[in-house]
Amino acid sequence: VNPIGCGDCLAAGTAWGLARGDSLVDAVRLGIAAAADNCIDVYSHDVGIVPGPRGFTLLVGGGLGMSFGVKATHPRLADPLGVVEAERLTAAIEAIISIHLDHGNRTNRKLARLKYVLDEWGLERFKTEFEMRLGGPVAPPEQLAWRSASDHLGWHAQADGSWMLGVPVPSGRIRDVEGARWRTALREAVERFRLGVRLTPQQNVLLIGIPAGAREEVRRTLSGHGVRLAEQLPPVVREALACVSLPTCGLALAEAERVLPEIMDGIHGVLAESGLGEQAVSVRIAGCPNGCSRPYTAEIGIVGQSVDLYTVFLGASPLGTRLGSVFAEKVPRREIAVRLAPVVRLYASERGTNEAFGDFCHRLGMASLQAEERTVAS
Ligand code: SF4
Repeated sequence: VNPIGCGDCLAAGTAWGLARGDSLVDAVRLGIAAAADNCIDVYSHDVGIVPGPRGFTLLVGGGLGMSFGVKATHPRLADPLGVVEAERLTAAIEAIISIHLDHGNRTNRKLARLKYVLDEWGLERFKTEFEMRLGGPVAPPEQLAWRSASDHLGWHAQADGSWMLGVPVPSGRIRDVEGARWRTALREAVERFRLGVRLTPQQNVLLIGIPAGAREEVRRTLSGHGVRLAEQLPPVVREALACVSLPTCGLALAEAERVLPEIMDGIHGVLAESGLGEQAVSVRIAGCPNGCSRPYTAEIGIVGQSVDLYTVFLGASPLGTRLGSVFAEKVPRREIAVRLAPVVRLYASERGTNEAFGDFCHRLGMASLQAEERTVAS
């Protein structure tokens, strides 16, 4: 579900497409979210699936990829299509994909996505075609109410009496580096305590099935190898994502994973200066507008534009239900935190009770935030 980095999904999709005689098939991203918990960014998928009391609410037409300078491309959140029962779920997904294959753009890979069929047709026409292919109507979608989109880091009790530990892994890179041996630490904990492992779309690791009596030993095992646990990291740092970008990805326009620590130091510093060092704000960095780290659904999205220059997006919902808007373009990497500082100070002084950073930026609008930044700079 939602691999980070374009290579795996593109290769898998292309292989599948070639096998059926269609060289333009890309990956079709399916996401399944538990009700009220949007930690997988369900609206960013081609097809989102959310279980509920009447069956599965289907969301269609999400996708975050875009190309700078190609106006027809843009990030898009999925629309609620309807509710299907478990018996028809597979057939419903097949019907959705078949519409994409029959009516999507088959000549330009940049436009060969389900979301553009939704753009062109609108939801009502899409639903009519979908129900015709499915062989019957579907019930109206549930009103989805999300409580959280954070990544279950730290300790959580499981239903069977055991515990789960969410371990933050910077950029999802499980390796041994100087000062922190993630690979060795995770291997030792898993083998010694026979733990289950879940990898998350936010690039972290969940260790599951930890006996209550082993919690301290697991913690000590990880800490002994230099792994910092969630409570040892500022919230803005532990929730940050970056795609692989350079040197791995051939589509990269700017650094992402390798500059994540530097950028996050700067952003955390700016938050701390305003007394917000413990504030949770989602930050995601992508090396190009394809947006594999989902920057457009982050409260601060940073997207590589060209060598060392980035577009900064603000105003997305912390629940993943609203896209961000362009705040500034062609921002040099070392100026990102500086350019954000006036907005952070404004947030610190004028936010509403419990108002998230992304909601605040959205409420004020980009024009106001840009004016604030210009005023401070002049
Ligand atoms: S550089 Fe672009 S295509 Fe490559 S992983 Fe990052 S966002 Fe995806």
